[in-house]
Amino acid sequence: MEYETCHMKILNFGSLNIDHVYHIEHFVQPGETIACSSYNRFSGGKGLNQSIALARAGADVYHGGKIGADGLFLKEQLEKSGVDTRFVHQGNTPTGHAVIQVSKEGENSIIIAGGANRCITTDEIADTVCTFAKGDYLLVQNEISGVDHIISKSSEMGLKIVFNPAPFTPAISNYPLELVDIFILNETEAAAITGLTHQQDIIEQMRKQFPNAEVIFTMGAKGALFVKGDIEHIAPAKQVTAVDTTGAGDTFIGFFLASHMCSGNIPEALAIATAAAAMSVTRHGAADSIPTLDEAKAFSN
Ligand code: ADP
Repeated sequence: MEYETCHMKILNFGSLNIDHVYHIEHFVQPGETIACSSYNRFSGGKGLNQSIALARAGADVYHGGKIGADGLFLKEQLEKSGVDTRFVHQGNTPTGHAVIQVSKEGENSIIIAGGANRCITTDEIADTVCTFAKGDYLLVQNEISGVDHIISKSSEMGLKIVFNPAPFTPAISNYPLELVDIFILNETEAAAITGLTHQQDIIEQMRKQFPNAEVIFTMGAKGALFVKGDIEHIAPAKQVTAVDTTGAGDTFIGFFLASHMCSGNIPEALAIATAAAAMSVTRHGAADSIPTLDEAKAFSN
């Protein structure tokens, strides 16, 4: 699989977060103040993780998004990873962040402050999207403001629209989903978007509602399923010992799309994506756990 001949670009309009992680004895109770045993700051956000995964997978990726003055290190990290950051805007609102408590049992409790991610203006969206041309790809998740506008504007420009409805919110049902060419969603998001619980019902509903879209269901340790009309491809997950599944979906999306953009061969794209995502779950962290294309290729053989 060689991507050197690929001339398409992908614009990933997505969140950029600062993750503050506190290890604590137990979750803070109402009225309680406790000291943490350790504190670390990480780069985060589905947008940032997916841009890094796309770049590691060899795609020509441009990140669209917004930070405050406190988030310049996120932009630097994207650049170091090979992501073009000319469309990362800077405003007066602080960068989005997450406050993450991790208990000694390993459970998480998370507060997210959208910050600059939720202050993206329609002008910033238009100026960014208009730079891309028919055939280029647009990827967007649901952690920023203006997702409906990003989808409509990108569709007007002839971009191929990829939507990862994560995290699911009821507002998604008002987005122009009929313009989406590729959905990539996990089991929770698939159940929420269709309002159904059984896998076969969910698949049939997505097929009926979006007959021309490619739908990729990711199913954790069970792998992934591609559906478009009557076409189905199943990709079992690679057998690994998982230590941290954070960012598995983001890794899958980056590798799947990088391959999809350049070869269009679905079984190949699923194979490299499941290999890369399986490698990511054997490592701690989100962005840090994403493998390189060479590592993923070696593992997929
Ligand atoms: P998300 O991280 O968005 O919840 P999933 O849990 O469905 O998404 O994981 C995305 C992909 O990562 C799966 O389709 C699979 O290929 C891979 N994956 C996830 N968990 C494991 C696991 N325990 N072992 C191997 N592969 C995994």
